[in-house]
Amino acid sequence: MDWNSLVENALRNQPPAEDEALALLRLADAETLPLVDAAWRVRRAVFGNKVKVNVLLNAKSGFCPEDCGYCSQSRHAASEIARYPMLDPASMLAEARKAYEAGAHRFCIVTAMRGPTWRDIERVAEATQRIKAELPLEVCACLGLLDDPEKAYALKRAGVDAYNHNLNTSAARYSEITTTHAYADRLKTISAIKGAGISLCSGVIVGMGETDEEIVELAYSLRRLGADSIPVNFLIPIRGTPLGDGRTVRDLTPWRCLRVLAVFRLVNPQSELRASAGREIHLRALQPLALLIANSIFLGDYLTEKGQAAEADWSMLRDLGLEPVWERTCERGEAERVHARSVD
Ligand code: SF4
Repeated sequence: MDWNSLVENALRNQPPAEDEALALLRLADAETLPLVDAAWRVRRAVFGNKVKVNVLLNAKSGFCPEDCGYCSQSRHAASEIARYPMLDPASMLAEARKAYEAGAHRFCIVTAMRGPTWRDIERVAEATQRIKAELPLEVCACLGLLDDPEKAYALKRAGVDAYNHNLNTSAARYSEITTTHAYADRLKTISAIKGAGISLCSGVIVGMGETDEEIVELAYSLRRLGADSIPVNFLIPIRGTPLGDGRTVRDLTPWRCLRVLAVFRLVNPQSELRASAGREIHLRALQPLALLIANSIFLGDYLTEKGQAAEADWSMLRDLGLEPVWERTCERGEAERVHARSVD
């Protein structure tokens, strides 16, 4: 493998060919360190030593009519989770303040639902306006399918910076994971987000039985869709969900997780790449290496699952010599420093 060419091409925003990306994903563990180094060289050239810190709020939990096989919040799942209706804007603002004080740059408001009603949109819009008026935080909304492009425009007008809508898995595998909506529905929502000028956050969940080819395909699909940020989640098998027995994550070794991240990095060199849910479980002792590839993390807990303690994340970043970024980077090319804070 010509690592220098791979890096130079990525720095010209030229991804490897698909068969080359596939070969990278299939490297032996003992051959993976040069790939991590190549991804690190790209990450360092594009993002320096900065890490974007995101905090999630599960603003409405459970009772979701959809049947996503990985999700504890589906009403088809028998998982033991807290279930509650959508928080009011004052509560969302209070949670945003906690996230800011914990060191977040972006606050992600997530609701378990097929898609938002207009009333839901109004509530998130009001929360966003209040958050933006009081705190220097980016706001990302993750509210499911948008059945009306006007809803995306309403969020944009309220100040929502980004909208998360993951591809999750490949088009071919989609119906195995979810039957209540289709991959094409997700593409329609992504198109509404882009149309409204909202930054697209869209990623994947690895470890749901997908092939290597499908992982590569997803990395290229997100490049074609122009995802500004790409969360790469590693499936947390949650008891009570169809994938809860862990049968699909058996090959998700720490080195494989690093190869997946590196392929996403090289195919999407300009995009924020987030080492997301499951990093603690699947990367284990190799977790710090993931931050040499990805330039973004979720701090603290995930929607219904525990994450690593925030202090452990800050220690990891400090030990790696990485610093949090507090630049407004939603729109490519724009870099408005809003505030600065030390990790210490
Ligand atoms: S739409 Fe979202 S909340 Fe609902 S089951 Fe699927 S992943 Fe879970």
